[in-house]
Amino acid sequence: MIQVATHTAELRELIEINKSKGASIGFVPTMGALHAGHLTLVRSASKENDMVIVSISVNPTQFNDKKDLEKYPRTLDSDLLLLSGSGANVVFAPGVEDIYPDGDDKGADIDLGGLDMYMEGAFRPGHFKGVAQVVKRLLEIVTPDRLYMGQKDFQQFTIIQYMLDSLKINTKLVVCPIVRETTGLAMSSRNARLSSPTRAAAGIIFRVLKSAKRQSASKSPQEICETAMKKLKSQPFDPEYFIIVDGNSLQPVDDLGSTNYAVACVAVWAEGVRLIDNLIIKKD
Ligand code: AMP
Repeated sequence: MIQVATHTAELRELIEINKSKGASIGFVPTMGALHAGHLTLVRSASKENDMVIVSISVNPTQFNDKKDLEKYPRTLDSDLLLLSGSGANVVFAPGVEDIYPDGDDKGADIDLGGLDMYMEGAFRPGHFKGVAQVVKRLLEIVTPDRLYMGQKDFQQFTIIQYMLDSLKINTKLVVCPIVRETTGLAMSSRNARLSSPTRAAAGIIFRVLKSAKRQSASKSPQEICETAMKKLKSQPFDPEYFIIVDGNSLQPVDDLGSTNYAVACVAVWAEGVRLIDNLIIKKD
C-alpha cells in the first residue's frame, strides 16, 4: 500500500520512522504523468533500497515557457494507480508552497560549472537553474541514500552529478537507461500531446541517432550532425539541434578520437511539443 504525503512534515515523519530502523532510502523525483520510463527508475530504486520515495510535483521554476507549464499534464490519480506494485512506498506530492516556503525566487544561484550553458540550457534559458533548485530542495527534504534519474535527460543528470559533487551532498546518483515506445520514440510525459500519426512517425529521432552512431566509425562529428539535421527536417518535425558532445564536459566534439565518452544529443519540435533524446556514441 502506497502512502501519500502532501506536506513536508508528514513525509519527514515517515522518513524518521524508517531511518530509525536503519532503512536505506531511494528517491525518484518526477513531475508526474508517469509512464514506463519512470517505472524503471522506481523498480531500480526498489531493488537497491529499503524505502522508495517518489515525488510528483510540477516545478514552475524550470519552465522557461509559461504555456508549456500550463499544458504540462497533471494526473495524480492515474499516477498512483500506475505506481501500485512498482515498489514505491511513499509518494510525496507537495504543493509549490511546501517546496518553496520562502518563495521560489531564492536559491537559483547554485554553481553548475557552466554545464547549463549548452544544448537544453542554450535553448531553454534558466531551465537547469530551476531543475537544480528543486532537486537540491527535494534532497534536503528527503535525505536519500540514492537518487534515481533517467539517461533520457542526459544533460540534466550530468548537471545534477556536478551539483552533488560540488555541494558535497552525500547521495549517490544512479542513472537508468532510456525506455522507448515500440517505434523507438523515447517515452516522455509530453508524447501524449502528439497526434497519433506524429507520435508514430517520431521514431525517426531514434533511427537518426542510431544512424549517427553507425557513421561515427568513418565520418566526422560535423558531417554526422549535418546529415542528421537534414534527415530530421521533414514534416512535421523541426530539429532545434543535433550535436555530439563530450559526455563529461558537454562541449561539442570536433574529433571523436579526442574523447573516450561521446554522446549524440538531439532536440526536435513536433506539433508544438519539444522532444529530446540521446545516444551514447562512444564510451571506453
Ligand atoms: P520527468 O517527470 O519528465 O521530470 O522525469 C522524471 C525522471 O524520469 C527523470 O530523471 C527522467 O530522466 C526520467 N525519465 C523520463 N523519461 C524517461 C524514459 N523514457 N526512460 C527513462 N527515464 C526517463
